[in-house]
Amino acid sequence: MDITHHKLDKKAAVLEEVNKTSGTFASGLPDTIVIHYTAGPSAKSAINTLKEDDVPASAHIVVDLDGTLTQLVPFNKIAWHTGKSAWLERNGLNKYSIGIEIVNAGRLEKNGNVWRSWFGKTFPEEEVVRAVHRNESTPTWWHCFTEEQVESVFELCKAIMKKYDIRHILGHEEISPGRKIDPGPAFPLDKIRDRLLHSDRKEDSDTTGEDIISKGIVNAGSLNIRSGPGVAYDTIASPLSRNTEVVILDEQRDWCQVEVKMTGWVSGKFVKKVKS
Ligand SMILES: [Zn+2]
Repeated sequence: MDITHHKLDKKAAVLEEVNKTSGTFASGLPDTIVIHYTAGPSAKSAINTLKEDDVPASAHIVVDLDGTLTQLVPFNKIAWHTGKSAWLERNGLNKYSIGIEIVNAGRLEKNGNVWRSWFGKTFPEEEVVRAVHRNESTPTWWHCFTEEQVESVFELCKAIMKKYDIRHILGHEEISPGRKIDPGPAFPLDKIRDRLLHSDRKEDSDTTGEDIISKGIVNAGSLNIRSGPGVAYDTIASPLSRNTEVVILDEQRDWCQVEVKMTGWVSGKFVKKVKS
């Protein structure tokens, strides 16, 4: 993924430029990336809203569910994604930051066996995670981000960091606490930030989106591998034996989606997580 003249190349992103900016960043800026979710059903709806003249909002990038990127504002222009915000001694983070909007429904309400977003769409159990928001103290339900989105955001941040001197990667919830809750606990913000900003391997461009996915070792004599996250799902192969190394692709409550020679779901209680 490469950036030329402040735009992602054609292979990496669709360009749908909107002219909602406050001009060019001051010299030495941007130095911050702000992560958001769209709280909407699709990239199309988010892009349409961000393109409307009478909606005073814009962002540099929208990330679709399949990881596809759309660029709306060149990276050297100030977009309107943070609103009232503060970080360290700064106020109004738009003038310091690149805004990435990831398609995601956000917080969900449980309704029997379905989970409902504020805009009325329902989601099945496998697209939902229960977690505690960093600004709250009790767990609630959240729409999962896709693996493609997480990898795509990671690669995008890496490409941006090659061109701009990025020092902060922040969630909207961190710069506008009390007012904003995106991207929320379903997004691995701390992990991505650690890998990109605090890793010794920062200079080493070999790190890929896949590297942010954890590894584990089977910690039971024999562990069923299933087609979905629950005992109701069929086993899809012979059980995994103790000390089998697995790649953890995703986690939902007590279940880990793992990759061995095949992909399936095992009880998370019997997977000892190790640092990759
Ligand atoms: Zn936001």
